[in-house]
Amino acid sequence: MKIKVNKKKCSGCHLCEMVCSLSHIGAINIEKSAIRIRKDDLGTSLNTPTFCLQCKDMKCIEGEHVQEGLEKRKFFWDKERAERCPFDAVMVFDDQAYHCDLCGGNPQCTKVCTPKALRYNRRGAPGTSGAA
Ligand code: SF4
Ligand code: SF4
Repeated sequence: MKIKVNKKKCSGCHLCEMVCSLSHIGAINIEKSAIRIRKDDLGTSLNTPTFCLQCKDMKCIEGEHVQEGLEKRKFFWDKERAERCPFDAVMVFDDQAYHCDLCGGNPQCTKVCTPKALRYNRRGAPGTSGAA
């Protein structure tokens, strides 16, 4: 299971960030969401939706004695994991990390993305997504 990104289609509307926070904390606060729309560093108009890539090899939990499958399903993470993520894909605000839990298999961000920059591939098997 994986969310596919087409950054050329992203308008930068931030609706995905809003619905992520709304569906997890019951309020719209884009800093408390697991997805960020980042501008690229090259001065182009491209927006890059960024969120956990659901890696098979989870560098983020290296050294921890936890079950990967369980941790993947959690939205609130310790910020140390964000620091370990090589893709800068876990969002941190006020010492709290926010991790994409794929909304338990029903990703809300893909539903509000009208330009279809975010698309959900239901056919992909869990744990096979690797680095997107
Ligand atoms: S993208 Fe980062 S946080 Fe997500 S599984 Fe990979 S290493 Fe862990
Ligand atoms: S799939 Fe759910 S948790 Fe992940 S970024 Fe989208 S709304 Fe947030």
